[in-house]
Amino acid sequence: MKQLAVSFNSADGVEFQHDNLIKELSKGIYRKAIFHVFSGIEDTAEILKVTSKLKEDFPGTIIVGTLSAGEICDGHIPPKGISASVLLFENAGVDLIKCVNVKGNEKASGEKIVKEASKIKDVKAVEILLPGTEFDTQIILDELSKLGDDIAVFGGYSGGHNLEESKHFIFDGDGIDYDAIYAIVYSGKDLHINVDKSAGWEKLGMPFKITKADGNRLVEIDNNPAVEVYEKYLKITDRDSFAEETFEFPLAAWQDNEELLRHTITVEDDGTLVLAGYVSEGMDVYLSYGNPDSVINMVNNRLIAMEEFSPEAILLYSCSVRKAFWEDFAEIEIKPFEDIAPVSGFYTWGEVMRNQDNNKLYEYNITMLSIGMREGDKKKNESRGHKVDDSVLSGQSSLLKRLTKLVAATTGELQKAYSEQKEINEKLRRMADYDALTDIYNRRKIEEMVVRRLNETAANNSVASLIMVDVDHFKYINDAYGHRTGDTVLHELASILKQEVKGCGGNLGRWGGEEFFFVIPGMDKNAAYDFAESLRKKVENAKFTDIDGLTISLGVLETDGKDQGQEDYTKVDNALYEAKAKGRNMTVVA
Ligand code: GH3
Ligand code: MG
Ligand code: MG
Repeated sequence: MKQLAVSFNSADGVEFQHDNLIKELSKGIYRKAIFHVFSGIEDTAEILKVTSKLKEDFPGTIIVGTLSAGEICDGHIPPKGISASVLLFENAGVDLIKCVNVKGNEKASGEKIVKEASKIKDVKAVEILLPGTEFDTQIILDELSKLGDDIAVFGGYSGGHNLEESKHFIFDGDGIDYDAIYAIVYSGKDLHINVDKSAGWEKLGMPFKITKADGNRLVEIDNNPAVEVYEKYLKITDRDSFAEETFEFPLAAWQDNEELLRHTITVEDDGTLVLAGYVSEGMDVYLSYGNPDSVINMVNNRLIAMEEFSPEAILLYSCSVRKAFWEDFAEIEIKPFEDIAPVSGFYTWGEVMRNQDNNKLYEYNITMLSIGMREGDKKKNESRGHKVDDSVLSGQSSLLKRLTKLVAATTGELQKAYSEQKEINEKLRRMADYDALTDIYNRRKIEEMVVRRLNETAANNSVASLIMVDVDHFKYINDAYGHRTGDTVLHELASILKQEVKGCGGNLGRWGGEEFFFVIPGMDKNAAYDFAESLRKKVENAKFTDIDGLTISLGVLETDGKDQGQEDYTKVDNALYEAKAKGRNMTVVA
């Protein structure tokens, strides 16, 4: 396969492409061709002039296009204009599935794409072009997640150069579409497509929780108007130029372990942030910042993988915010791809990609998708180690680099302290409820559980059983083997009891000294007697590390939980006392 690309400032320039292309096509080796037209010019008449010229000169060729926030052509970012690329395939198939009137019909549109694509043999990838976040994209993405597991999905949202406000539309050979999705299906046994993403923005400070959200409208963070996060931590208060002021500090939300960067397009009067992508309630969210080092690192890693893949053509669909972030240096993360294979693409208002691990589709921001395509086997070229040339950055950005290092280091320490604190809190919580020697509930907690479980029992008009356990002649063990051994024995005994209480839906705790207590909802006294006897036998037959053996005595009481009180405990205690009096190693039901 082959990719040819050209850019021009107005529709008149489109002729320029043709000689080259006509020559290439005259070789007669290409079975299929598709034009991608990326227009930074919002004037639809100008765009239609281009597409109708292409249609006239190359009948039968698929034409798709989108408004773009920046054009990528031959590894460069030409001045704002129109650029076109043609992908020529020797054997592969390319089909366009077009859905119109998508708004309100999101599910049906997604279903249509999946259904039509399933009729095509050897589908390798589906590219989707979307006009904006007007419709409920999540529904469409969920449908597209049902495409065959080994099909890659990538794509982007249209939008113009002005990040504060823009039109959003896509177009094909037949006209302009504001409410449509294009799905371009690439297929063929010999076709190989490799898709991945690079982001590189890093978390800043502590996580917040999204407490109110609706699609791409982020209403509340930690129960406060979402905008306050930016006002408080970054002192960004000017709501008129909010997008411009905050794009370097997008939010990093988390879903299924996937980082979803979100930049703000506008702020509403009540402090709601309108984002370039959906978020959901309950997601953790951080402020993040573009660290040039890690952004470059991620691109370098992608370059290694791309070179290894050995593509014949590369598409880059990158977020408009990345272009704004790099300013005059945006080409540094584009150019090195051109050294591998011809590159074209555009700057988007949002990127879409399928995650290879869970097959779900996610909507990203601030991410660069790189798509390699190849027909046939890899060419065995020697690795040339393509890398981002960041020497242009060194002068003016060394202070920036040092500052970002400082931020990264302090953020790292803060996050470490935060997770340590979380761990300590977790330990403290455990200490409050558990007995240190036996690692089962302590007296306070088991009493609390008894009350709770008996209340449930009463409410359900059911019964529950209480069982008290006391070790026989434990003083003797302490006297004969020492207190330390006594402790070990208690720990081992608790492990046995813990094992036995599993699965019966009850709770176990240390009542004090060498006494243990069970509450088992839904168990009547007959079943409780059997259970107690099985405990007794288990202990009698158990092997202990330091002593020859041990027996226990047990008292059992059935209760409906209705008249709870000290009396219950006295009754179990008396049953236990009776077991002791009758000779120990025995169960008595009250
Ligand atoms: P009985 O069969 O009548 O229950 O005889 P007993 O020796 O077990 O008598 P009792 O229940 O009155 O004695 C409990 C003993 O358990 C007394 C105390 O020294 C010992 N004990 C209580 N808590 C611990 C502990 O945490 N570790 C150790 N090693 N011993 C303990
Ligand atoms: Mg005792
Ligand atoms: Mg005892």
